[in-house]
Amino acid sequence: MATAVPTTPALDDLRADFPALDQEVRPGVRLTYLDNAATTLKPWPVIRAVQAFDAEYPANVHRGIHTLSERATEAYESAREKVARFIGAAEVEEVVWTRGTTEAINLIAQSWGRTFLKEGDEIVLSDLEHHANLIPWQMLAKERGVVLRFAEISDDGRLEPEAVERVLSDRTRVVAVTAMSNVLGTVVPLEPIVAMAHDRGAIVVVDGAQGVPHRAIDVGRLPVDFLAFSGHKMCGPTGIGVLYGRRELLEAMPPAWGGGSMVLRVSREGAEWNELPYKFEPGTPPIAQAIGLGAAVDYLSRLDSEAVASHERSLMEYAHRRLAEVGGVRILGPEPEYKGGILGMDVEGVHPHDLAQLLDRHGVAVRAGQHCAMPLHHRLGLPATARASAYLYNTTDDFDRLAEAIADARRLLH
Ligand code: PLP
Repeated sequence: MATAVPTTPALDDLRADFPALDQEVRPGVRLTYLDNAATTLKPWPVIRAVQAFDAEYPANVHRGIHTLSERATEAYESAREKVARFIGAAEVEEVVWTRGTTEAINLIAQSWGRTFLKEGDEIVLSDLEHHANLIPWQMLAKERGVVLRFAEISDDGRLEPEAVERVLSDRTRVVAVTAMSNVLGTVVPLEPIVAMAHDRGAIVVVDGAQGVPHRAIDVGRLPVDFLAFSGHKMCGPTGIGVLYGRRELLEAMPPAWGGGSMVLRVSREGAEWNELPYKFEPGTPPIAQAIGLGAAVDYLSRLDSEAVASHERSLMEYAHRRLAEVGGVRILGPEPEYKGGILGMDVEGVHPHDLAQLLDRHGVAVRAGQHCAMPLHHRLGLPATARASAYLYNTTDDFDRLAEAIADARRLLH
């Protein structure tokens, strides 16, 4: 039976804001959406903001002098200001639009990395990393002779600061870690890691794809050098993300891509780069998507981030208890106090892909596979895992339905 998770009234009312929640995936089968780590649902204010751009002022930004273009530019740039405030950036110019976390980290590796790293320099990553925070560094390592070192996780999937310390050296120039594992939900203790890296003179890159949506990261308080995150994992549209970078670093970096808008003056011989953040944003940007992300940030900012985090923690505590009753479900990763709303699972006798398919029959949307984290799966000794992930609109009922559907799958296949 469901025990009530303490929530604020605001959280209880939230579900009505997300139209996709209110549907049957097939006749008689209600949707239970637990795939939020892949992408989150969008609330009405975000849908309406994107619609308003397309319907009322679908003009290009910065170039036109006409009213529609001015309106588009105003909405687009004010979205950037909202994002800057949301993450505590000192200056709005430190917010660069990208297509998402993946593009943001590639931009750091291709621009900062190729400019400032040389053979023998070391980059510290962890066993928890998503391929987005691994492949761009591997590409750079191959090209430049840079060495990658990996901080190991504990058996319960935690990344201890001491594990990072063990792989730091005088050659460490970059520490690039996730704020939250997309497979295990592990919350990484960033504060001591940032302090240790800075003591060694290394810069810190944080993959905030999961961390920013689930726990506010304030770069004013936590002095990371770069922070990357994606709009679609925080109630915003797909196709828009953010690279936050400290001004001095961004100023020193060359553009990674060329084209219109990122230049001030151009001749046959060359060009002078535009100022921040435009030198990193060639071509027509994802205008509707940026405006939609601005609306998502407005939406999230109205909520108490502590209440959201504690709601997710309560849901995880509930899920751990509830799945223990089902039997045969091994929950991967640490105890709820060390993680956000992500539940990695290994169900005895049921392959994760079969499980995801059987759960879909009950309308329960989860994800199965390696979740773009193959080295982590090697470390766990599992070919694949199933993942149920919660966000602010999920309830204990959702986890009851998950538990019932898993019990059903086990009856069928075990
Ligand atoms: N990093 C982590 C921890 C993620 O969970 C994801 C997406 O699942 C990414 C990076 C990549 O994000 P995107 O695909 O939006 O670029």
